[in-house]
Amino acid sequence: MGAADAKAKRPLCFLLLGPPGAGKGTQSGIIARRTGVARISTGEMLRDAIARKTPLGEKAAPLMDYGNLVPDDLLVALIAERVALPDCTNGFLLDGFPRTVNQAAALDQLVKDRGMELVVMNFDVPRAVLLRRLSGRRWCPTCQATYHLETSPSKKLGICDNCGSSLIQRADDRENVVAKRLEAYEAQTVPVIQHYEKRFPVHRVDGYRDVNEVFAEIEQYLNGEPS
Ligand code: AMP
Repeated sequence: MGAADAKAKRPLCFLLLGPPGAGKGTQSGIIARRTGVARISTGEMLRDAIARKTPLGEKAAPLMDYGNLVPDDLLVALIAERVALPDCTNGFLLDGFPRTVNQAAALDQLVKDRGMELVVMNFDVPRAVLLRRLSGRRWCPTCQATYHLETSPSKKLGICDNCGSSLIQRADDRENVVAKRLEAYEAQTVPVIQHYEKRFPVHRVDGYRDVNEVFAEIEQYLNGEPS
């Protein structure tokens, strides 16, 4: 993200928006590995809180299991605490936040207070593809690595390549819960895209392509090259 930083001359707050299954987690992982920018996934943080049985985890678990969003005040506090850590001083990448207009307003204030530059990308993927991706997704409860039965299977069926734990299907990737998550996305997160579009161009990414092609487009955009 060096070139974009140089152009902006301010630390970058980079948002990846889009429905569940659009590839935000995969792309944010690649960006973080290649650039070293701090990657913050609120879904991962919440699943970690659930695994550690923290008070936040206890509140979030029943909501997440049924595809509902976790309340804004909890998420805003979680983000405020996370971005105060030293690895976020020079910018950060958010995957899964903001998901409501209230969260976006809280983030706007944070970005303003810290004198950051906001860049927003919106991943677009047809609904049928999202459903296929989510139903085939398998997840490691120990290290949170994500696989797909067809498109990115683990080397040994059902076993995590990274840590050897057994892979499972996330409770919220079950078909009935996925429908609820997509509903929550339409009702609560699509207005977030509109919230930003009123202020500046939001870059639309066609997420129904090869992972490397999508990453190349993101990299090109961040480096300010014409696409
Ligand atoms: P994800 O891994 O990003 O798909 O998130 C999984 C689940 O965590 C979501 O379906 C929500 O229940 C919860 N969650 C993650 N991020 C947020 C957020 N910004 N606001 C509210 N709930 C969230």
